[in-house]
Amino acid sequence: MTEVERLNYDVVVIGAGGAGLRAVIEARERGFSVAVVCKSLFGKAHTVMAEGGCAASMGNANSNDNWQVHFRDTMRGGKFLNNWRMAELHAREAPDRVWELETYGALFDRTADGRISQRNFGGHTYPRLAHVGDRTGLELIRTMQQKIVSLQQEDFKETGDYEARIKVFAECTITELLTEDGRISGAFGYWRESGRFILFETPAVVLATGGIGKSFKVTSNSWEYTGDGHALALRAGATLINMEFVQFHPTGMVWPPSVKGILVTEGVRGDGGVLKNTEDKRFMFEYVPDVFKGQYADSEEEADRWYTDQEKNRRTPDLLPRDEVARAINSEVKAGRGSPHGGVFLDIASRLPAEEIRKRLPSMYHQFKELADVDITKEPMEVGPTCHYVMGGIEVDPDTASSSVPGLFAAGECSGGMHGSNRLGGNSLSDLLVFGRRAGLGAASYVAELKDRPKVSQSDVDAAAKMALAPFDPPGDGVEENPYSLHTELQQSMNDLVGIIRKSEEIERALEKLGELRERIKRVTVEGHRQFNPGWHLAVDLRNMLMVSECVARAALTRTESRGGHTRDDHPGMDSQWRNKLLVCSATPGENPVVPDIGIEVKAQLPLRQDLLELFELSELGKYYTDEELTSHPGSPA
Ligand code: FAD
Repeated sequence: MTEVERLNYDVVVIGAGGAGLRAVIEARERGFSVAVVCKSLFGKAHTVMAEGGCAASMGNANSNDNWQVHFRDTMRGGKFLNNWRMAELHAREAPDRVWELETYGALFDRTADGRISQRNFGGHTYPRLAHVGDRTGLELIRTMQQKIVSLQQEDFKETGDYEARIKVFAECTITELLTEDGRISGAFGYWRESGRFILFETPAVVLATGGIGKSFKVTSNSWEYTGDGHALALRAGATLINMEFVQFHPTGMVWPPSVKGILVTEGVRGDGGVLKNTEDKRFMFEYVPDVFKGQYADSEEEADRWYTDQEKNRRTPDLLPRDEVARAINSEVKAGRGSPHGGVFLDIASRLPAEEIRKRLPSMYHQFKELADVDITKEPMEVGPTCHYVMGGIEVDPDTASSSVPGLFAAGECSGGMHGSNRLGGNSLSDLLVFGRRAGLGAASYVAELKDRPKVSQSDVDAAAKMALAPFDPPGDGVEENPYSLHTELQQSMNDLVGIIRKSEEIERALEKLGELRERIKRVTVEGHRQFNPGWHLAVDLRNMLMVSECVARAALTRTESRGGHTRDDHPGMDSQWRNKLLVCSATPGENPVVPDIGIEVKAQLPLRQDLLELFELSELGKYYTDEELTSHPGSPA
């Protein structure tokens, strides 16, 4: 029998980023015991890296802003494929969630008259991102950890035990979710340091594991982003949606090679930075697509005036949604107008005084100085697209964050729907707060209503342990595979064949490669012991990366149009017949026990509620919808 440390909690939150921590707070506030588990050190989640800010229509910088404008911007950014109920809840609740953070102890940057300052970002009509310099994510995490400590102090006063209701399990990886009769019964994992197994017996799990970027070669994402939550959910019987939509942030570092992909915040452009090609031309004016014509400045003079007078001028096309800017950069480089290292130039040096740049963008200043020996107050940065965010994720109910598996909830980047085909910058931090809270609440309500708790079976525990240990015990047929080599091959294929610009023949090649890797992963072999063994950790994560990569590739092949974070060279236009269609991925056991087969189905999205439909002009909706879908709009002639 497998030796396992066994623990019992009402709710287990997997992931200690913004979404996970907000879920923990909510479930604990409802009186439940909560375990929070994270692969990295507590406080070192991906959220910490968020730079630009958190979008919320508080109207501090422009009083015309409100939730309806934010909702409209979010739907436009996602090219109307968003789960509209999620976009509605997000736009309505984000301001309260930001205010609430200040009650936990956050301190956002201020306007001259003492209100929370808000900055411009791509696709947002008004300055909307609450921020702390360019270190907003750090403040978010710091504050929520502080709130958790204060809740633990309350618990100590009541019970004499700080960890009576919230306990943190850091450097602990969950490898499998367990179910009984289709309901969640537990989560199985191992301590990264000792390699020892741990089992959480629990009726409710909140997945808040973040994204999938480590399946791609050039990425802004940290090592934790191996799609674990996506794969755990699939194996437990839940579904994923929108996996073809992967956001390539337009501005990652391109040089030196060791730092390729590291993010250059959109805040640089929000604060006045402009994109230029080798001819010193601000090329974004050439790339305003039809759906956004009329909404963006068509001269440099107007674009520059917009930074100081947004009432009379239209915004700069440097701040088009990310998918548009990334494609534009790609085209400039392809046309031979790129920078020496294969990107374009991002110039803030000629736009703001050096002192102001260092004040507003301290992290960017240090990042370029230390990593590339470039002083951004004196010279332009070289930037290019980098895999940044996955819009696709676990299919959830918008109000409760529950998946199709009873007891399984998801929030943050690992959930799907909210951002449609493309996320607006700043909308992730607000998403984490809004839906992290709702997931904690959903899990708490679920537990409160349970009549009996599902039980963990010993055979499931043994199977999970066997799967985790498989890399120490390969088939023994003389062929051994190295996890690092397989990972490199996977990343290269995803980057080259299912990257920013896709075509069917290349995606098919990627699927062939994934099929080959599926077979080879059965023979992945690691040396040494279970004590902190990075090769083993990667071997375990690789399985998840393969599953999510297959979802991305299959969905990308199926969607024969270009929309948001999915660009098909062979189907360049947006097709209104595809707008309301979701591609739903599910897993079936199949022949390969290590990586289950992925199935894909087309499902219709619920039509936009009438009052929300009426927030848009018919002429704008006509660019995305079919005529039949618009007959209920008051402006429709039908
Ligand atoms: P994370 O913060 O990544 O947390 C995931 C957690 O899950 C971690 O604790 C990890 O250890 C844990 N985990 C994963 N797998 C397992 C497992 N198997 N077992 C146990 N634990 C596991 N968005 C904005 O809105 N505004 C910004 O300004 C912004 N800037 C960004 C800058 C950068 C450089 C990057 C990369 C992203 C930025 N984003 C921004 C996006 C945003 O930061 C992320 O989408 C968001 O932080 C994701 O939060 P999360 O809570 O979903 O996951």
